[in-house]
Order: sequence, then C-alpha cells, then structure tokens
Amino acid sequence: MTCVKCQREIEAESSYCRFCGAPVRSTEAPRRFVRIHRSTIVHVAKIREVQPLTHGDHAVILRDGKVLRVARSRRQALELALGVEL
Ligand SMILES: [Zn+2]
Repeated sequence: MTCVKCQREIEAESSYCRFCGAPVRSTEAPRRFVRIHRSTIVHVAKIREVQPLTHGDHAVILRDGKVLRVARSRRQALELALGVEL
C-alpha cells in the first residue's frame, strides 16, 4: 500500500512508514490484507480457498473465481493471516 504522507510504497504489515515515519492508517486492521506476491496484496476475506500446486507452490482462489499465484516467500504470511498451515 501507499503512505498517505509521502506516497511511497510501504509494507502492508508495517505500522509506520519507513521513509517518513508517518503512522499507517489505523483503520486498516493488521491482518485484513495479506501480501502474497511482490506486487499482489489480497483482502483476507475475499480468499475462498488455497490450492497447492506442484513443487510446494500455492495458488489463492478468490470468491470471484480469480486465481492468484502465491510467492513461496509469502506463504508463511498467508498462513498467519488465514490461521492455517499450508
Ligand atoms: Zn511516508
């Protein structure tokens, strides 16, 4: 997501902007969004299911049927957000 003050890209999990120190809007609960890929952040409530792919990769299936690839490095964040073990 984007910092409201300096407009730079910051991690969805952070509570402060690492560039200007502005607090990230508290209206967004910490686990409402999860980053599943370098350029992909999904709303946890929109995830319908997670499907295992080959080689330990996973794909997220949204309620609207959209399929998104999960980066292997983001799998743990997804597990934490959903409260499941993949
Ligand atoms: Zn900032």
